[in-house]
Amino acid sequence: METSSSSEFVVQFWGVRGSVPSPGKETVRYGGNTSCVEMQVAGKRLIFDGGTGLRMLGKSLQPQLPIEAYWFFTHYHWDHIQGVPFFAPAFVKGNTFHIYGAAPDGLSLEDHFSEHVLHKNAPVPIKEIQADFKFYDLTYGNTVNLGEITIETSSTSLNHPNGAIGYRVTWQGHSAVYCTDTEHFPDSIDENVVHLARNADVFIYDAMYTDEQYNNPKSPKVGWGHSTWEEGVRVAKAAGVKQLAVFHHEPNHNDDFLDQMAVELKEAFKGGFLAREGMVVSLL
Ligand SMILES: [Zn+2]
Ligand SMILES: [Zn+2]
Repeated sequence: METSSSSEFVVQFWGVRGSVPSPGKETVRYGGNTSCVEMQVAGKRLIFDGGTGLRMLGKSLQPQLPIEAYWFFTHYHWDHIQGVPFFAPAFVKGNTFHIYGAAPDGLSLEDHFSEHVLHKNAPVPIKEIQADFKFYDLTYGNTVNLGEITIETSSTSLNHPNGAIGYRVTWQGHSAVYCTDTEHFPDSIDENVVHLARNADVFIYDAMYTDEQYNNPKSPKVGWGHSTWEEGVRVAKAAGVKQLAVFHHEPNHNDDFLDQMAVELKEAFKGGFLAREGMVVSLL
């Protein structure tokens, strides 16, 4: 299924928040929905994660059905899957989703998806799924080729509890990198992440905290599996990235706080910006 244009490379943010949805008047400008990013590349539709932002993506797709999409999961913490039972195109016959990810504990991705992601605690029964779900098990370092599009995975797990996969999408010499839910190392840059981000046009990075919050002796965030915007800048510079998209915002960071972060980010790295719900970035 072709999307609107076969010669575009566009990233759209549908959910930019980390950990838990955070709606309300103080987060309305950046958005409260959790992780979900869409890329339209060379006529193909790629989806990354299925946080609550996925519901809005589903609504936007409604007029275009039937659709075919390639859906990549970093990992299965709630903030990356909670939109799945509310993704309307999954319940419509004729839609096809190619689902990629790594299942934990030796399960196949298909078993993991039906037993854990579409869990019995989810409000919609799995038998209501009418779309064609095809599953592809990934391991770290795998590369997926979709015609002229190449999707590389991080060579090892991102540094996150239970692991997570980073993705790098390349088409005609342009790359967008989706690298969320990862914690940096205290004494050295994460070469796994630098390699994934090398010369990227857009580098989407887990920048949940500020360095000050991360290292705050009264309430340190060390070992929580997330990074900082300052580390995002260090990686972006080391990797020769053009644009750094600060992503996976902390639920307690309100719009005013994030505005201030955006100013500081811009001073530290000209190509830096904060991801906002609904934002569209074109690579071409
Ligand atoms: Zn997360
Ligand atoms: Zn996580």
